[in-house]
Amino acid sequence: MRLHNKVTLITGSGSGIGKSTAQLFAREGATVVVNDLAEDKGQETAEEIRRAGGNALFVQADVTNPESVQALVDTVIAKYGRIDVLFNNAGISGVGAIHEVEPEAWDRVMTVNIRGTFLPCKYVLPHMMQRKEGSIINMSSCIAEIGLARRASYSATKGAVLALTKSMQVDYAPYNIRVNALLPGTILTPFVENYLRNSYDNPEEAYESLKKRQLSGDLGRPDDVAQAALFLASDESKFMMGSPLYIDGGVVFG
Ligand code: NAD
Repeated sequence: MRLHNKVTLITGSGSGIGKSTAQLFAREGATVVVNDLAEDKGQETAEEIRRAGGNALFVQADVTNPESVQALVDTVIAKYGRIDVLFNNAGISGVGAIHEVEPEAWDRVMTVNIRGTFLPCKYVLPHMMQRKEGSIINMSSCIAEIGLARRASYSATKGAVLALTKSMQVDYAPYNIRVNALLPGTILTPFVENYLRNSYDNPEEAYESLKKRQLSGDLGRPDDVAQAALFLASDESKFMMGSPLYIDGGVVFG
């Protein structure tokens, strides 16, 4: 088992990529702390893992709220004594070119995607620093590297997360903590289904054109990203530090 006895915390793991990763980590022997803003989805993920014989605990928290994140981390430390892996996965989409985006909508995307990465790191890092061990995985996106139409706020956040990852790696390498980023292409999750439904008059046509953008000929699936997260979480990636890992069906380099 590749994560035997590891304590892992995955934000936003009630759905999509986070949920698949929680399930995979549990199958690989990890204790999985499922976090989500949505109580029902988070509980369901943890219950499914336990029914399948895995070890999971759901802790509701809002990654944008310092008290909420501090309480989440305190709960995990009180129960398990440590956090080996933090996967900052929670995120929301933002649609529109700059002139179309309302300031409040801009701020919401910044808050969830950037502050929501900063806060779990802030409260988990002291525990990892004390033990001189840990792996942090930040969810960026291939949109940090390529321009896509009407995704201004979202692309700005994912570029910021990639830059943050590199900066963090320099600060925490002396503590034997690795910090890497995942850059998925388009992955078929509720996040993308909502985006297609809300942004296009003809979502099916938009889906077909998204598929054509991939060298792979199809969109990715949550497990494609979960497998990459597993690699970054495990000691197999011990020489990866501050790196972007692309899981994009060839979109960036194709
Ligand atoms: P999803 O919508 O299926 O899951 C995201 C989860 O995050 C939801 O369960 C949601 O409740 C939770 N969440 C949102 N705000 C939160 C908050 N404040 N506190 C705690 N939890 C919160 O989305 P997904 O497609 O699985 O995306 C997961 C991550 O992957 C996001 O960061 C997204 O930007 C990134 N990503 C997705 C794709 C894609 O194509 N799906 C591509 C690149 C990057």
